[in-house]
Amino acid sequence: MSKVAVVDIDNTLWQFCDALYEKLRKVNQNFPPPESWTHWDLWESYCSKDDFFKAINEIHFNQDSDQYLPYPQAEGFLSSLRGSGYRITIASHRSPHFREQTERWLQKHGLVYDELHLSFHKTRLFDMFTDVVVDDAPQVLEKAVESGARAVGLLFPWNQAYSKNGFSLHDDLNEVLSHILGK
Ligand SMILES: [Mg+2]
Repeated sequence: MSKVAVVDIDNTLWQFCDALYEKLRKVNQNFPPPESWTHWDLWESYCSKDDFFKAINEIHFNQDSDQYLPYPQAEGFLSSLRGSGYRITIASHRSPHFREQTERWLQKHGLVYDELHLSFHKTRLFDMFTDVVVDDAPQVLEKAVESGARAVGLLFPWNQAYSKNGFSLHDDLNEVLSHILGK
């Protein structure tokens, strides 16, 4: 039986935070850069909830535009996982309305997967059959650990403080891959 990996998109397969920062600094030029995004609710001091979610939705609506590129290691990361016997569910915290552009983006960049899950409750996917969860959000990684999966992701200012909570955070996807494959 294949092993199961659940892999996030934003800030896992590409640098979503930079795209979001570009949008938010147009709303408020004082919006701080991603290097200082240590808490998820930091935006509340700089823009309205509407502005914040509008910026996120605009990016997801245009996911397949030429300006939104995956990390250079993303393609090899997914194909190596699959080559090592993992069944890959790509799971992103975004509206299912953005499915077409998300599929086009994955296809365009050769990002292989078996299933695509778009919702605002992806942690419901985690069960006893989930072997590994790759994500950057501490709350998601904590749920993965609770479900008995291995939790691993890229290191960012917003997850740094949680790095002792049973998951493993790394500087790039090659390190994430080595950790998963035990190399
Ligand atoms: Mg993410």
